[in-house]
Amino acid sequence: MSKLEPPRCHSCREELVLGAQGELNPWSCPNGHGLGFTLSESYERLQEDEIDQLWGAASGASARGVRCPFCSETMAVLTVEADADEIPEGEDGDGPTTHTAELDVCVRDQFIWFDPGELEGMPEDLPDPEPTAEQKAAFEQIRANFRTGMEEAWETRGDQQLTERMYDRVARHPKLHSAMNRVGDVIS
Ligand SMILES: [Zn+2]
Ligand SMILES: [Zn+2]
Repeated sequence: MSKLEPPRCHSCREELVLGAQGELNPWSCPNGHGLGFTLSESYERLQEDEIDQLWGAASGASARGVRCPFCSETMAVLTVEADADEIPEGEDGDGPTTHTAELDVCVRDQFIWFDPGELEGMPEDLPDPEPTAEQKAAFEQIRANFRTGMEEAWETRGDQQLTERMYDRVARHPKLHSAMNRVGDVIS
């Protein structure tokens, strides 16, 4: 298995460092140019309605952002209108926008980049309801036989540990599975 290039900062080209902030494992620039994390990680920090906006817009977005730390392609810039709740945009009970952010996203690597201060502006994830028995069963099915494009991507990078963690995360955030399927459709 070939070891691929480590992710690098778009600005200073320094290798990004994988860190831990609670359950979140962001890659950050040691020189303070920002940090990023994957779609699956994003469920540990961002609210689900914001994540939905981000990935819903991903396919049509123009590439005009910074370079992706992983593949060096220009990232798409997506506007997210954040609010305090996790109710999908436009549905009953959805609150007013409290913060607008323009985030850099690499659809291929399912990676979101935050310039300094951008992540701090995003509202914190709210506790998820306990998964239903049905969701748990669906997850076990996935674990047993489902191999996503993302998982293969991680394995290509030789990072089995990250793959394991992703499974864990899907188990704790049932909505992540459907989001990953959607993104898979965008990529293919
Ligand atoms: Zn940097
Ligand atoms: Zn990329």
